[in-house]
Amino acid sequence: MPSIETPDDFAHRSDGGVLPDGVQNLKERLEATIQALVEKDMEVIEAYTLLNLMLVGGRPRSQALLGKLQSGELIAPVDLDLEPIRDYLTDRQLRKLSRVLVRYRELRADFASFVGKIVRTGKVAKGQHRRISGDVMDFLEFTEEVKAETWDLFAATDTLTGLMNRSAQARIFEEECRKARRRGSPFCLALIDADNFKAINDDHGHDVGDAVLVAIANRLDESIRAFDHIFRHGGEEILLLLPRVTRRDADRMMERLRKCIADTPVRLPDGTEITATVSIGYSLLGDEPDITIDTALQTADEALYQSKEAGRNRCTFRRYRQ
Ligand code: GH3
Ligand code: MG
Ligand code: MG
Repeated sequence: MPSIETPDDFAHRSDGGVLPDGVQNLKERLEATIQALVEKDMEVIEAYTLLNLMLVGGRPRSQALLGKLQSGELIAPVDLDLEPIRDYLTDRQLRKLSRVLVRYRELRADFASFVGKIVRTGKVAKGQHRRISGDVMDFLEFTEEVKAETWDLFAATDTLTGLMNRSAQARIFEEECRKARRRGSPFCLALIDADNFKAINDDHGHDVGDAVLVAIANRLDESIRAFDHIFRHGGEEILLLLPRVTRRDADRMMERLRKCIADTPVRLPDGTEITATVSIGYSLLGDEPDITIDTALQTADEALYQSKEAGRNRCTFRRYRQ
């Protein structure tokens, strides 16, 4: 059974200050995945069309079609590499994408076996043709679903940091409210804002500012538990939603997050080290009636403001009030 991380596992897993890479290309990779699925669809449709043309006596002849199938000219070998996006997909999404590839390989083998039999025997196995037709329809429907899900993921991903953007916040917030009520255990909502970020941009340039922001996002992302949610709220602000925590857990977690940024400078590729800090405002939410993400965010924002007023690089808790 997979183990569930407890707040005690919420350890500081810093990247040691080395600039993270890879996240920035996430959107490109998702787009490439969708593009690959579109191509697979088209290849299957093309192969299926040719198969039916052959059956009604048109072109190509069965020998030629078999040759095309065997050489990979039709339905080329699958080159969809899931490895680079593995960390960003849910287990369910990963399973579905893997299944597309398996089904695609099966279709390819079935096509070749069907046409091969026609070449050998000169006869058409009607049952096998029916099965292939059904499999093609299933495949197209299934990849349609996977494509739509991958588009959703693409749309909900922030281009710079690879974190979820604002668009998914309200839905996840409502889901976690329901779970918190059912379980009777609250969740923590935390707004994290990079301190004096304008000065980092002014002193080192916007690109370095971007790199620091990516490093902050990555460090926070690596420091939270698998079932916690992290969003780029906008600009240099990050929002966390941490289910199943007590007030004491939340206090400890926030302090660890603050330290994981402040204690290790971000090291740029040219060796420059930049020390960044963040201010945090957080609140605990659970069974309050009629709670909305807007009122909850307001409380976290007031707490964040207090952290800034008190001198930055600190965490402030505020009780939720409507
Ligand atoms: P404070 O401690 O009060 O939060 O100070 P601050 O300078 O961080 O806050 P302010 O709101 O004055 O400025 C935020 C700065 O963050 C200005 C904006 O250009 C910068 N910023 C926001 N988003 C990005 C981004 O994606 N990349 C870069 N490089 N800078 C960004
Ligand atoms: Mg700021
Ligand atoms: Mg800000």
